[in-house]
Order: sequence, then C-alpha cells, then structure tokens
Amino acid sequence: MTSPDAAGSIQQSLASLRATFRARFEAASTEQALRDENAKILGKKGELTAVLKQMGAVPADARKSIGELVNAVKQEVEGAFEDRLKALARAARAAELDAPAFDLTLPARPPSPLGHAHPISKVRDEIVDVLVSLGFAVHDGPEVELEENNFGKLGFPPDHPATDMQDSFWTTSGTLLRTHTSNIQIRAMTSHAPPMAYIAPGVVYRRDDDATHSPMFHQIECFLVDEHVTLANLRGVLSEFAERFFGAGTPVRLRPSYFPFVEPGAEVDVGCPFCRRPDGTRAGCSVCKRTGWIEILGCGMIHPVVFESCGIDPEKWTGFAFGMGVERVAMVKYGIPDLRLLFENSPRFLAQF
Ligand SMILES: [Zn+2]
Repeated sequence: MTSPDAAGSIQQSLASLRATFRARFEAASTEQALRDENAKILGKKGELTAVLKQMGAVPADARKSIGELVNAVKQEVEGAFEDRLKALARAARAAELDAPAFDLTLPARPPSPLGHAHPISKVRDEIVDVLVSLGFAVHDGPEVELEENNFGKLGFPPDHPATDMQDSFWTTSGTLLRTHTSNIQIRAMTSHAPPMAYIAPGVVYRRDDDATHSPMFHQIECFLVDEHVTLANLRGVLSEFAERFFGAGTPVRLRPSYFPFVEPGAEVDVGCPFCRRPDGTRAGCSVCKRTGWIEILGCGMIHPVVFESCGIDPEKWTGFAFGMGVERVAMVKYGIPDLRLLFENSPRFLAQF
C-alpha cells in the first residue's frame, strides 16, 4: 500500500541521518567503535536499512527520485566510513612510530626448562653403571614369559603361592607377565655356556598395590656362573656395590632367608645412608626405623636344581644371584615415603630430582 506521506517521511529520516553520521564517525576513537557505529546505520537492523524497507510505501511517481536520494546517502556513509577507517589506521601507525624505541639490549626470555630423566630411570642407570663397572654385561628378555621360565625352571614347586592367580597376571594358560627378572637367568643359562656374568634390568608385574607395592615395578637381577664361585665372591660383589652406590664405608650384612632358586639364601641390608655419624657408626633414624640398617635386596648361591633345569652341570659350575627393586633403592636413596609418588607423574614431585 502506498502513501504520499511515505516519501516525506523517508526524506526527513535521510536528512537527519545526513546531518549526523559524519560527527558520529569522528567520535569513534577505535576501529571497533567505528565498525559498531557503521553497523548501526548500514547493518541489518541499521537506520538506513530501516528506511529502505519503507520504499514499498512510496508512490510510483516519487520512487525513482527517492531511490536515488537513498543511494546517494548510502554512498556518502560508506565513503565517510572508509575515510575514517584509514584515518584511525594512520593515527595508530603514527603513535607506534612516536613511541619510545624498542630496547634491543633487554635480555631474551629464558628458555623453557628442559625435562630430565625420571628418578626411577636415574637410579636404574646408576645401579647398572656400578655393576657394569664390576664386569657384568646387560642381558635383555621378554616381559611376557612362559610359566616354566618364570617359575618351573627356577625351582618353584607347582603349588608355590607366587604362582597363584592372586599374585600373578596370567595372559593365557602357561604364559604370564614375568613376576621377576630372574627369568633372564633361565634364558641366559639355557642359551649360553658358562662362565657368564650378567645383569638383567627390567619391568616386572605382581598383583600388589599399596604404599610400598606397585602392580608394575622395576628390578635388576645380577648373576654370575663360573667354577669355584663361593659365598665370599657374592659378599665381595655386594660390598663393592654398596661402597660405589651408597658411598665409601657403607657396611653390608647378610641375614639368612629363603628363596626357591638359591641355597643358601640371604637378605641383604646396607648401613643407613641417612644417619651415618662421622666415625662410620649409625645413629638410627626414621628411614631405617632406628636400626641403622636398610634392607635392599635378596641374594644367594644359585640352586643346583636351577643349573640342572638349564642343562648345566652343578658338580662343575657354581654361581650366585641377587636381585633388587629399583623403586625400593630409589626410595632409600632419596628418602621417598610413598612408592606411589613415583608413578603419579606430578611435575612438582619429579622436579625435585
Ligand atoms: Zn637411619
């Protein structure tokens, strides 16, 4: 529906817009403010757009001249917007050039801190270094192992509690995640002829999870097979290991113990590194539970049954073996109270090592 008044109304709106838009653009002091102001006029819900919507009501004879007028105003607004945009850009550039010069002598940003080896890896590498320096070579082997290599050939009776479903992770019948790195003893002795001196660092798995046990942990097994090997040789290697790893003058003591694959077997304590007095005695502290000693590993003379199951003559060859938990040694070395801290991967904890 047309109305003669529509033309007049449009003319009035255009006149008032024309009188104000330049001042409104000038008042915008940033590019964003300018774009916002422009949208208020030319945007979808802008003032000029609203005027255009009234064109339908203009009588046909006036439509051409009103149309031209609307277009003219639109072009003026667009031109003024572009001019003001350029002016703001020039002003910004001028301000940048007038600003104080860049100080090229300022120090650079510090580089991001580098990571480092996990404490378990560090301690494992240190233990391996000491034993390699004593003449042992590293021997590797699989984490998924046959039952006979993990238990049977090591002299575990078939009903030994360690073989129970509660203690081991079985993959299929007769195959399990190794519960110790002693499987390497079997693999080395069935594939090499003695003499031999190996260490076997690696990951082992047991169904245990508390403050001092983890279902996955690291062990280092060390064994030597030769003629005339005695307990004195074992004791000598352990003393030398304690001296080199925990520091000069660290005493070692053996306490009789039982493991299926050694005879005799012993648990090994080292003098507590935390409460040592200058005269070499121990004062006793919370880490060693006031005893001055810390248990770090199990050891013994390789059982004749183990030699026989690997096809080695126990009348001719003798040997010793010892194995330690890397986490246990790391906890002793660094005074870490809870094993689980080693596996939580908190950067705040790991950054301390
Ligand atoms: Zn102590």
